[in-house]
Amino acid sequence: MSSSMPSHKAQKMMELLPQKLNRQVVGSLLACVHCGMCHESCHYALTHPDDPRMTPSYKADQLRKIFKARHDWTGRVFPWWVKATTPMTDEDLEKLKDIAFGTCTNCRRCTFNCPMGVDTATLNRIMRGLLTRVGVMPEGVRVVSKDTWELGNQMGVLKEDYIDTIEWLSEELVDEFDDERAAIPIDKEDADIIYAINPREVKYDPRTITNAATIFYAAGANWTMASWGWDQTNFGLFSGDDELGAATWKHLQETFKNLGGKRLVISECGHGLRSTRCEGPNWAKTDQDFIMESAVITMARYIKEGKIKVDKNRNSQPVTFHDSCNNARSCGFYEEPRELLEMVTTDFREMYPNRTENYCCTGGGGAMSMAEYTPRRLKSAKIKADQIRETGARVVVTSCHNCVDGLSDLIKHYKLDCEVKQLVDLVAEALILPGK
Ligand code: SF4
Ligand code: SF4
Repeated sequence: MSSSMPSHKAQKMMELLPQKLNRQVVGSLLACVHCGMCHESCHYALTHPDDPRMTPSYKADQLRKIFKARHDWTGRVFPWWVKATTPMTDEDLEKLKDIAFGTCTNCRRCTFNCPMGVDTATLNRIMRGLLTRVGVMPEGVRVVSKDTWELGNQMGVLKEDYIDTIEWLSEELVDEFDDERAAIPIDKEDADIIYAINPREVKYDPRTITNAATIFYAAGANWTMASWGWDQTNFGLFSGDDELGAATWKHLQETFKNLGGKRLVISECGHGLRSTRCEGPNWAKTDQDFIMESAVITMARYIKEGKIKVDKNRNSQPVTFHDSCNNARSCGFYEEPRELLEMVTTDFREMYPNRTENYCCTGGGGAMSMAEYTPRRLKSAKIKADQIRETGARVVVTSCHNCVDGLSDLIKHYKLDCEVKQLVDLVAEALILPGK
């Protein structure tokens, strides 16, 4: 093969690019004026001031260069001027992998701070998707993707283990309340609520399932969990693989239809909410044809309607709230958790900046599954650590399982004197149960 010819994988990747181009994507590819304003918005750039690769526009330029070389007249006429180039070797693809997966959590903070409306995070996700299609990805991304395709959940939880864990939790609840109605139903048809979880809960943190089940029990809810299609997360958002994203979303859709539920309620998860509510139907090229909501909405409704009673004095320690990037920036979901937080805590302190300007927990974009980038991730976490420390809070609350892991890791690394909880934990703590 001539040295001027791209490698097979590089060639294949470039052939796939046109499938990803639409008006919004091309707009972001063309609109950047390289003003540099996004530099100040990125936690990687701010914590790696001597590394120009951390600037958001540099990351997006990796796709921009290919686009200009292959699909834009400026790249054909003045390639040297617009820096139009294409990857030629597999080593070039490895360098692109390091940038797309290892220097960006797709948090979209730069997107919100770009005067030209350039969606750098979307461009970075496209680069991830192209690389993934030709087999160039971190090992963790490969493993999680494989688990999702094979087992229908991103943590490789076997169906038997999932059922065993739910039954074990269910028996404990029945014993605790001495009431069969406290059991966790599985595959109950025509329930008002089908509750879908993050696999992290069944594998590492079953306490959150118990807390949710206790709240449903206290509210007298007609609810169920499903034995299949119960993973509300979606690794396709992180890997950039739209096919995986579509398949995962369809699992939830099938579960909803098969069980005949009235409403899908998903546990607290930023990328789960974004994927289930906004992105999944696009990947699956279909309509969002089932009603769904975050458990945050469900819990707040129970309190407002008097279905459950809470005593906020049980959560009197100082708490702050971390906005998940996907909840806040991509779903506009930031007042609802605060409203619930005010109902169940007595000393809530905002961290600054917050809401759409909040900094990433640094575990976003699947970063927790990419061990090779951990030192860089933890260095970039200094901003979040400083944000938390300045609040004086002892508890960092977040409505996202991914953020729980990202925050827990940085709290340990920067030796902060606080712990991470979710709203479901605080609501369960504040819950007043008759007879208890
Ligand atoms: S992405 Fe936006 S903020 Fe960043 S350099 Fe380009 S135009 Fe400026
Ligand atoms: S999406 Fe977030 S992590 Fe990625 S470049 Fe923009 S600000 Fe940085």
